[in-house]
Amino acid sequence: MKELYYEKDKARGETKTLAWLKGEVKELTDAVMKNDEKAVGEEVADVVAWALSVANLKGVDVEKALLEKYPNLCGYCGKNPCVCEEGK
Ligand SMILES: [Zn+2]
Repeated sequence: MKELYYEKDKARGETKTLAWLKGEVKELTDAVMKNDEKAVGEEVADVVAWALSVANLKGVDVEKALLEKYPNLCGYCGKNPCVCEEGK
């Protein structure tokens, strides 16, 4: 994603890139609410792609960040799968 879009993301800037991410989250929400399976898949891809653009602009090492925040065990209960109660 960095090789593909970094220069365009950099030119667009953080604020506008975040606005695109926000728009894609709204489109994903709409697709889920409509139960449109094809659109859900497409919008998930868009949300992840725009989130990666934000990560690239901020110099985030996504693999490292994911593994730190979401190792193969739940960060709260320490289990896999997670056994935490929802909302806690
Ligand atoms: Zn848990």
